[in-house]
Amino acid sequence: MEIRMAEGYCVKCKAKKPIANAIEETMKNGRKAVKGKCPTCGVVMFKILGGKTVSAPPAVAAATTSDSRVPNA
Ligand SMILES: [Zn+2]
Repeated sequence: MEIRMAEGYCVKCKAKKPIANAIEETMKNGRKAVKGKCPTCGVVMFKILGGKTVSAPPAVAAATTSDSRVPNA
C-alpha cells in the first residue's frame, strides 16, 4: 500500500527528507510505520507513526429510553 508523502530524517544527509517509495507497515505491536528510501542518497528510512491504530469501537448509539406510555383505557 502506497501512502502519501511521509517525511523522515535521513541520517546520511542529516536532514529531513520526504520518504521515497514509502510503504506503510503495521508492526507486531500494532503500531504503524512508514518504510522507504531517501530520495537523495537511497538510504533506507524508517519512521514510526505516532499514536495507536484507529480502531473505532462500535458506540452504543441507540440509547434505550424507558418508554412509559400510558395505555389507553
Ligand atoms: Zn539521504
